[in-house]
Amino acid sequence: MGNENLKVKVFPIPDCDICKHYGIKTKAVYDARMDIGNWFYMCQSCFEKNGIGLGYGLSYKLELVTDKIDEDLNNLQKIEI
Ligand SMILES: [Zn+2]
Repeated sequence: MGNENLKVKVFPIPDCDICKHYGIKTKAVYDARMDIGNWFYMCQSCFEKNGIGLGYGLSYKLELVTDKIDEDLNNLQKIEI
C-alpha cells in the first residue's frame, strides 16, 4: 500500500483552486489538504508550497477518467477545460 498509489478519478481535470484565487488558470494535479484542514485542487507547484503531504487523508493524486473520454469523444468540444 504505497502512498503514491492514492488516486482519485476525475473528469475533466479541474483547475488549481489556489492559482484560480490569483486569477491564473492551471490544471490541478492533486486533491490535497492544507494545514487549515480544507481540501483544494492543487497544481504541482501549489502542492509543493501548500500541501501537507502525500498520503491517505492528506492528498490524492488526480487521475483522469480515460474510459469516459472514449464514451464522450463526440462531446469533447462541448466540455469546458
Ligand atoms: Zn496552482
